[in-house]
Amino acid sequence: MTQARFRFHGTLERFLAPAHRGRATWVECAAVVSAKHQIEALGVPHTEVGLLLVNGEPAELTRRLGEGDEVVVHPAPASGPIRNQPPGRPRFVADAHLGALARRLRMAGFDTLYDNAYADPALADLARREERILLTRDRELLKRRQVVYGCYVHALRPEAQLHELYERLALRTWAAPFSRCLACNSPLQAVTLEEVAERLPPRVRERHLRFLNCPLCDKLFWEGSHWRAMRERLALV
Ligand SMILES: [Zn+2]
Repeated sequence: MTQARFRFHGTLERFLAPAHRGRATWVECAAVVSAKHQIEALGVPHTEVGLLLVNGEPAELTRRLGEGDEVVVHPAPASGPIRNQPPGRPRFVADAHLGALARRLRMAGFDTLYDNAYADPALADLARREERILLTRDRELLKRRQVVYGCYVHALRPEAQLHELYERLALRTWAAPFSRCLACNSPLQAVTLEEVAERLPPRVRERHLRFLNCPLCDKLFWEGSHWRAMRERLALV
């Protein structure tokens, strides 16, 4: 066995048993163990680690731990060698309990897959295959070997969950509100009033100018009071 001393910071402490919170504690590790394995054994999914220091130096999660190592773990976001999200505009897959959050992400223009029939292995495979960030409140799901990018969502209410993701993943610069279908995630297409006039109630036809159509599920969206309320909601994020 090897002994290493661990100190976790910030939101990571919520995943720990009380004895490991708020201070550095010695942990008995297997003789040959990676930082990732031991961090997860203590309850923290590897996706939540933003910066890992071993004996004061930045280290990768694959780092083998040795006798007497001092391990300090900071949450994402933190500048450091551990990449927590794929390059470019983030894309997501949400687990079965985060349907309301998935809708809000689509509202903000983020490609977000959600189907409450997805089983855990399928979710993890999908996230890996398509380089999507897996969103869940199930830490065991994030510990699955296939998962490269993931976020444990701490907040319970959908608005607070969206705010949490905006903060952690710097989503503001990537947002494109009303560019995706809230129902099926497909990119929306602008259509003219003439093209859709016969499908609209007279009041909508008279009062609105901008219309968007989903080419996949054929849902129609227009800039009404509901749309404005969503825009205000997103502005608050
Ligand atoms: Zn659609």
